Amino acid sequence: MNNYDIAVVGAGAAGLMTAIQAGRLGLKVLLLDGRDKIGAKILMSGGTRCNVTNREVSEKDFETGAPHTVRAALKAFTPEQTIAFFSEIGVELKLEPTGKYFPVTDSAQTVLDALVAEARRAGVELLTPHKIQHITCDEKVFTLFSDSPGGAGGAASRFAAKTVVLTTGGLSFPTTGSDGTGYKIAQSFGHTLVPTTASLTPLTTADSVWRSLSGITVPIRLSLWVGGKKEHSVEGSFLFTHFGYSGPAALDISRHWIRADKSKGVRLEASFFPTVTEEEIAHQLMAATGQEGNRTVRAWADRGGLPARLTEAILYKADIDSGKYLAYLKKEERARLLAALCRAELPVNGDMGYAKAEVTAGGVNLDEVHRTTLESKLRPGLFFAGEIVDVDGRIGGFNFQWAWSSGTVAARSAAKAVC
Ligand SMILES: Cc1cc2nc3c(=O)[nH]c(=O)nc-3n(C[C@H](O)[C@H](O)[C@H](O)COP(=O)(O)OP(=O)(O)OC[C@H]3O[C@@H](n4cnc5c(N)ncnc54)[C@H](O)[C@@H]3O)c2cc1C
Repeated sequence: MNNYDIAVVGAGAAGLMTAIQAGRLGLKVLLLDGRDKIGAKILMSGGTRCNVTNREVSEKDFETGAPHTVRAALKAFTPEQTIAFFSEIGVELKLEPTGKYFPVTDSAQTVLDALVAEARRAGVELLTPHKIQHITCDEKVFTLFSDSPGGAGGAASRFAAKTVVLTTGGLSFPTTGSDGTGYKIAQSFGHTLVPTTASLTPLTTADSVWRSLSGITVPIRLSLWVGGKKEHSVEGSFLFTHFGYSGPAALDISRHWIRADKSKGVRLEASFFPTVTEEEIAHQLMAATGQEGNRTVRAWADRGGLPARLTEAILYKADIDSGKYLAYLKKEERARLLAALCRAELPVNGDMGYAKAEVTAGGVNLDEVHRTTLESKLRPGLFFAGEIVDVDGRIGGFNFQWAWSSGTVAARSAAKAVC
């Protein structure tokens, strides 16, 4: 068996970064992946454009039980260093007005190709398909057991390494190769999991009016009410679909909806004018009722810039005849209209689960992992990076930044452990 300094299990974003950084530090690196073709998530990311990072990233952009660990990793490898790293390997990034960075080519393939080429340059040995089923550790040597034959007489392949970094991802989009095996391996070393759920996944509804708006995208503010208390609020782009709700705002709130205690009563509410307060809209409506009484409600609502089909749906929900003149609107109708514009009920009856989730919430408990090295407190020589641990970010390049930062930290720490 070839003896490596470091075996990196999983060649997604975190694994590629870990392997590259370890290779650059002169380590003998083995990078394994269960899939023949690696990088599926990178290729599908950001609508195949790959949102690599964000202008500003802090631990506040993540949900985690260990914000100090996230802060330490982001400090060790910052978004600025990420941009410089990609430039160095031939991927220039451009900043978009939303704060998101994409490759100038608008192609995720550019990102994957550059990472794979850099891994080769750094001397990384990439072997696929090798799905690691379990790992043992004996006298400071880890043995990794793959389900692919390679040993004598068709026996399963084995690899030996001084350190191991688990970068197997979570449970999101399992067709890309992340199916939770990494969790089982972590658990075999005594690690516990913060319970996992899908995150950044579309929400579903049975509401035929909202579903009929499939294809419409609008800016929105979504508020999640749990037990009569507003617990979360997000602003962003929102997409009506034939099954329910998607787009960044719906994806961002999904984690909170999924993890909310449904027995307390959970409601999702929308304001279709996220940048204007309800009081201002109420004021405008009152003023228009007095000064433009011969306008129809539809004409007034249209001025707000909402798509006509959405305006009709909102008026339908408010039970107001869209052809009614403003002058004839009763007080209770104005109240209903206001509520439908600023506090519209978006019923949710489920979510699209891991199958369509961009990330996994929960994962390996970071209380059991050293804050600045990402080394296991339970098994020296074992490290973690990427989605496998209890860290998930919102939409905007944050999840990749976590992969780049945590991968770099794990590589540097493994190098120190080897030396
Ligand atoms: C549709 C979609 C769009 C996204 N867009 C963005 C975006 O634009 N910006 C952003 O920041 N984030 C985005 N994300 C999230 C981002 O892709 C993830 O946060 C990131 O890929 C996680 O990287 P990872 O390396 O930890 O895990 P993964 O990318 O899941 O990689 C894990 C790898 O480990 C391998 N593996 C698993 N188990 C084993 C095993 N036992 N043995 C060997 N190999 C194994 C898998 O085959 C896989 O290749 C998106 C996700 C999806 C699904």
